[in-house]
Amino acid sequence: MPIAKTFTERRIVTLLTLQEYADQIFGLPYRQPLKTIHEALAVHGWDASPFPEDYKPKCCGSEVSVRSFLGSAYRAECKVCHKFILDVTGPTFGNSWASFPDPKKVDLETDVEHVWIAGSAEVAK
Ligand SMILES: [Zn+2]
Repeated sequence: MPIAKTFTERRIVTLLTLQEYADQIFGLPYRQPLKTIHEALAVHGWDASPFPEDYKPKCCGSEVSVRSFLGSAYRAECKVCHKFILDVTGPTFGNSWASFPDPKKVDLETDVEHVWIAGSAEVAK
């Protein structure tokens, strides 16, 4: 008669830092130290401080296009010059799905401020 025994397993998992995650998913032109929203805006001269509600930066004479998901903006892009800022913890969209960084693989909690990158071309994400 076999003896059934239950073990509670403890494992130590190494998470990628958000920076390491970003460096993996973005191509070389977009690799950069992650920025706060204000630092990312400032790269394009879109600074706004204090940060007003529903703030939309102006670029090339008009408001940039802002994409949000469940109420929080994760990407702003000028449709004219294609300068953009992007929250790397924001969703990646497929045809009928949205995915986010996996909290079992990526540390999303240690630094919630430095999650933005700034770039100046269309990025495939
Ligand atoms: Zn522009």
